[in-house]
Amino acid sequence: MSEKKMFFVPDECEEPFSRTTHLAIAAHQDDVEIMAYHGILECFGRKDKWFSAIVTADGAGSPRTGIYADYTNEEMIRVRIKEQKKAAYVGEYGFLSMLMYTSAQIKGDTPEIIEDYADIIKKSRPEFVYTHNLCDKHPTHVAVALKAIKALRALPKELRPKKLYGCEVWKNLDWLDDVKKVKFVCDEHLNLERALLGIFDSQITGGKRYDLATEGRRIANATYSESHGVDTCLRLSYAMDLTPLIEDDAMDIREFVAGHIDDFKNQVLQKLMRD
Ligand SMILES: [Zn+2]
Repeated sequence: MSEKKMFFVPDECEEPFSRTTHLAIAAHQDDVEIMAYHGILECFGRKDKWFSAIVTADGAGSPRTGIYADYTNEEMIRVRIKEQKKAAYVGEYGFLSMLMYTSAQIKGDTPEIIEDYADIIKKSRPEFVYTHNLCDKHPTHVAVALKAIKALRALPKELRPKKLYGCEVWKNLDWLDDVKKVKFVCDEHLNLERALLGIFDSQITGGKRYDLATEGRRIANATYSESHGVDTCLRLSYAMDLTPLIEDDAMDIREFVAGHIDDFKNQVLQKLMRD
């Protein structure tokens, strides 16, 4: 059984769905701010673009220490809901939908999750969707990405977004072929970066410096993206373009990913060739 779903509209707009142009579909609280920061920045302060987010998990199973060490799962769930709502407020999200499924439900055969995604996408019809990438290290993240693809494939083509991005959280995407990786420059509103990541105190004080690690990855990407040129941006995030998978429903997901891995393998082996 999942906890009760939560729906939050920071500015209390009565019609938060139709204004949404950018939508993140994430596993846990704080994943949105790590992986879809580009979408948040694209829409921040704009009247014509709105970023909204779906968080699928209830957040019960996170590791804890410090002031959170004695928290029960239920108390932890409440803290994580509060933190995610704070982020939605700071980031001026169009809406925040927290579906409150358990990790086991997300990883298992739970058609309700796919239906929930499809329902929200149908109502909001975003142009851009950000989800986890298919090579992520965290099984719950990969399960969310697979269910998001299923939800999109279940919709008629005219309701699907223009672009579907698989973003970085656990494992980065530096290894993707340069011509295949989507590069998100995240230089606007640099002041918001720490404001958004720092909100998730239960995770950071709880023992993981996601705030520093995420900022560090973006800085590293900005510098290491181009070996023969000077830095052209301060913060860079990568994504795997998953759009082909929602343009062609027959395309095999494993083969699609294997193609990217083969490209990487071939490039590495080519540099090691002699004579
Ligand atoms: Zn996560």
